[in-house]
Amino acid sequence: MSYKIPLFDLNFDEEEENAVIQVIRSKWISSGPKTQALEEKFATMLGSEHALALTNCTVSLHLAMNLIGIKAGDEVICPSLTFVATCNAIRYVHGIPVFADIKSMTDLTIDPDDIERKITSRTKAIIVMHFGGFSCDMDRIMDLAQRHDLKVIEDACHGPLSEYGGRKLGTIGDIGCFSFFSNKNISTGEGGMLITNNQAYSDRARLLRSHGMTSMSYERSTGHSTSYDVVDLGFNYRMDDIRAAIGLVQLDKLRADISIRAAIRNQYLDLLKNVDGITVPFAASETIASNYIFTIVLKDATVDKRDKVRGQLAEAGIQTSVHYPAVHRFSVFREFSSDLPLTDYVTDSLITLPMYSRLSAEDIQYIVLNLKRVLNV
Ligand SMILES: *Cc1c(COP(=O)(O)O)cnc(C)c1O
Repeated sequence: MSYKIPLFDLNFDEEEENAVIQVIRSKWISSGPKTQALEEKFATMLGSEHALALTNCTVSLHLAMNLIGIKAGDEVICPSLTFVATCNAIRYVHGIPVFADIKSMTDLTIDPDDIERKITSRTKAIIVMHFGGFSCDMDRIMDLAQRHDLKVIEDACHGPLSEYGGRKLGTIGDIGCFSFFSNKNISTGEGGMLITNNQAYSDRARLLRSHGMTSMSYERSTGHSTSYDVVDLGFNYRMDDIRAAIGLVQLDKLRADISIRAAIRNQYLDLLKNVDGITVPFAASETIASNYIFTIVLKDATVDKRDKVRGQLAEAGIQTSVHYPAVHRFSVFREFSSDLPLTDYVTDSLITLPMYSRLSAEDIQYIVLNLKRVLNV
């Protein structure tokens, strides 16, 4: 089905096309100078000491679990209202995901009070996810982490250049993980980044992403190295220069893209101001946010009502989504399930509306008009 208004549209033009052509013609298409340039640019833009480009964010989260030393039976506190990859990473290293609830219907980030209740002698880390690019309560979370000697991993997939108290998301905890999947703020098809200010983490991540080898093929091809040793059990989590070249163009566009998204969000907020029957999460937030997605939560709803509203919007040609089906309800996570009343409510009553920088004022009016019609308000 093709929608009149899709959920997301790529912010691509000839610049991305030309960047790819240039890399292909250079004949070095795997990890090389473009990848290194992307890492340097990303680190500079975020104010992080180290950045490592990777195949996607899922492997960034996996490396993060490895770097902080999560082992079988270690507990890691995480949200359930997130993409499943956040929690899968804990399982890759046989850790135990301990789900914490969200704060409220208007703040969909992990609740520090619930984190505190769920800390045990086995807890080793907290993974936070900055929903839609709106920050978790990092002051309280970092304070809890310090008092209980826990590591903090930021799944910052939604929040490149989003801020918290003047600091960029992903730079506050021990490690920050980003995704460049097609529908993210920065799109390279597949792609991801790991950032950290910890030199030892960065050094080890560099080894682990390339089979634990002490030198990379680009270094050898350019004569900087002739042989290598394998010193750790690594993976192949490298980004290639074709994607990195697209990423460099996307980074150049990021600030402008984000400011357009902020304007779109303001338009939505304005038009939805007097609509009964919904709440708009983070409506009162005034910090710089990436606005990766725009979500609403239906009041007094059930999953049937929500799905009916989505169905009627689809009939009007408007694509919507649900961020997210709660992870603790998935079959493979059910054994780790716990009581998460707010997450349960929101996962059944949330609707993600279209958000991308090419969304026009008329599109937004059309979406809100139809939403009001469908809600009968
Ligand atoms: C997209 C996303 C991921 C996974 O990223 P990939 O690059 O597709 O592996 C993980 N967590 C969150 C919150 C995401 O939005």
